[in-house]
Order: sequence, then structure tokens, then C-alpha cells
Amino acid sequence: MIRADLHVHTNYSADATINPKTLIDQLNAHPTIKAIAITDHNTTEGYHHAKQLASAYPDILIIPAAEITTTHGDIIILGTAELPPKPWTPQNITNHAKQNNAITIAAHPYRTYGLGDAAKNYQIDAIETLNGTSPTNINKMAENLAKTLNLPGVAGSDAHYIDELWTVYTEIQAPLDINEILKAIKNGKVKTAYAPKSIHF
Ligand SMILES: [Zn+2]
Repeated sequence: MIRADLHVHTNYSADATINPKTLIDQLNAHPTIKAIAITDHNTTEGYHHAKQLASAYPDILIIPAAEITTTHGDIIILGTAELPPKPWTPQNITNHAKQNNAITIAAHPYRTYGLGDAAKNYQIDAIETLNGTSPTNINKMAENLAKTLNLPGVAGSDAHYIDELWTVYTEIQAPLDINEILKAIKNGKVKTAYAPKSIHF
């Protein structure tokens, strides 16, 4: 079993300030969360930078990802550093994910830039039911959507700033291995949780 934050931005996102070096140092020092997905907006440059820095540490895992601004709302593609071809329609994103052994997550579906109920029209693999920067009622709506669609619910901090990190995590019944993690998420072997901020860096 591992604990992962499946939604983290770095300063490669125009609206975020987290330095990849600080991020990797904090992940390495974190007592329980040992994997993160770098989900910058429409780029995987931050992932590549973080991955390179993380290569010095055997006990942490950086999952390739991106949060794509699609025509109908934000979709996280998890498990590949290849950006989908444009136009960025939800259909093109889900097709691209399948072709690259990656999965798709409807990010904060009921916030601005979320897919909302339209998530049911696409072959999305999981719903972000716990977003660290969303109010409880909005997360609750996402939980209901996951139930209705019978899809797994995952958690991500959606941190854009250092102090937004380590707020929530996804518990995944898998070892620290990307393919095993993707498989476990697809099979619903996941649980979401709030992380008490017990550690200060
Ligand atoms: Zn985000």
C-alpha cells in the first residue's frame, strides 16, 4: 500500500510557484506520502525536471501526468509524459490515454473548468472526489458523481503553492510502481483521505 498525491503543480504552471527542488526535498522527507503526480497545466516540463531531481532518491516516485485544459473542462492524464494531440477534446484525451497505457481523471468536476455531469459522456477512468483546494460541498458532489458512474474516486492536493502541499492523499493498494498504481486505480483499489498537517518543513 502506498500514499500518493495525484494532483500537484510546479512553477512550470503559469499560476503556480512550487519549485521542483523544494517539492522533491519535501516528498523525500515526508513520513508517509511517497508518490506524486506532477499535473502542470498543459505541459510535462515540470514533470521532467522533477523526475530528474528525484532520480537521486530510491524511495520516492514521480508519476508522469498533465492537467489538460480541454474544450469541456480539466482532465488529468496520468501515466504518460506524452501530451495528447490537439484539438484537446475530452474524446481525444481519453483516446490518447488508452493508446499510451495511461488513465484519465476528471479533475474537480464541479468547479469552474471542471467537466461536471458531462464526465459521464466520456470514457474517464476515475473521478477526483477529494481536491485539497475545493470546498467540502463541491467534493461531495464529485463523490456522488463517482458513485453514479461507478468509478473510483481519487484525491489530490491541487497544490499551486508550497503551503497547499500534503493536505490530502490517495491510498493505493499497489507497490511503488507506475503500472501497478495505474492498474490499482482502474480497479478501484483506492481510498481518499485528508492528511493531518503533522509535519513542518
Ligand atoms: Zn490543478
